Amino acid sequence: MIKDPALRLQNYLVFGEFGEVNPSISDSSTFTFLTSEKMTELFEAEIEGCFLYSRHLNPSTNYLAEALALMENTEAAIVTGSGMAAISSTILQICSAGDEIISGRTIYGGSYALMKNFLPKLNINTHFVNILDLDEIKSKINKNTKIIYCEAISNPLLEVADIVELRKIADKHNIKLIVDNTFSPMMLQPYNFGAHIVVHSLTKFINGASDCVGGAICADKEFIASLRNVNDGATMLLGPVLDSLRASSILKNLRTLHIRMHQHSKNAMFVAENLEKLGLKVIYPGLASHPQHNFIKTLLSSGYGFGGMITFDAKTKETADKLLIMLQERNVGYFAVSLGFYKTLFSAPGSSTSSEIPKEEQEQMGLSDGLVRFSVGLDNNIEETFEIIKQSLKDLGLIK
Ligand SMILES: *Cc1c(COP(=O)(O)O)cnc(C)c1O
Repeated sequence: MIKDPALRLQNYLVFGEFGEVNPSISDSSTFTFLTSEKMTELFEAEIEGCFLYSRHLNPSTNYLAEALALMENTEAAIVTGSGMAAISSTILQICSAGDEIISGRTIYGGSYALMKNFLPKLNINTHFVNILDLDEIKSKINKNTKIIYCEAISNPLLEVADIVELRKIADKHNIKLIVDNTFSPMMLQPYNFGAHIVVHSLTKFINGASDCVGGAICADKEFIASLRNVNDGATMLLGPVLDSLRASSILKNLRTLHIRMHQHSKNAMFVAENLEKLGLKVIYPGLASHPQHNFIKTLLSSGYGFGGMITFDAKTKETADKLLIMLQERNVGYFAVSLGFYKTLFSAPGSSTSSEIPKEEQEQMGLSDGLVRFSVGLDNNIEETFEIIKQSLKDLGLIK
């Protein structure tokens, strides 16, 4: 195996029908067959290089999936119409009524709401735990437990899951470990440390252009084939397909992900270090003050830093709101949810992306009202951008 994920991607050579440097786009929903035997055969099992219908498999979406599998170092992958589609399809493929999930409590608000409010309608119930507390996790396991779910770097508190230990627990009880790697593509490959299944929102860093929504599931061949089984596969039957035109545009953006992650991380490190120097409470895995700083270093691929996400405390919701509008007016970035854009994106998770989590639970997990989340952009002059941030913090009385 080539160690560097970017190099694995660079070695992935696919060409168009006429030698185009980008693969041709398969702009068709369906595919012809020359014999009826072949069609029957394909309904029974997948045949390499043979396509049936684009909800099942499409050459263009498959190119993107193969590239993502190379990055995550999994045998296979499948792409979906959104990150939530990847997460919900994965869970529904594994769980039946009566099954249980153990999930980290600091996760993306949509994933939390899916497990908290939607899945119980199917009698699939979730225990939300402190993902760093292995004893708490063990205490929630019973014969119905099918999944341990977490984010490699959690949203928005940037806790780093101990994938190695979680896998050991999962193996003892025949449980699947699912890791959402949306915050840390390229820089960390959860599969290498024990995740059975890695899910992504392609919407964020991987596409990086904030122009579309997409998702991916990376796992072994058997699980990916089960998802598109014509008789009982979740992606086949629930139908969360990604369009082939979009898949090919995301693949083109994926080719620069290594450079973007490098720059996002470099800028985020600068902002985090300097905000901390100003006396603010900053959470960033690259800071020595982060509780899992030393641990995450054992997981990271070399050269991509600690990621583009930082969180800090602006004390009250009012100050946080004022700060974000001020930063937008001063062109530091956009007051918007989402992440991985060329401009810095900022929001106050308590009242936005994590608002699905009830207030008292937010407090329990340390998600304060004044918490501000930054997805640091690709600024070529982050020192100058930081001066504007500093002035804004001064203007609001957050620093002297
Ligand atoms: C955005 C996000 C999702 C959901 O992805 P969509 O593409 O918006 O459906 C899931 N997990 C994390 C960590 C996210 O940031």
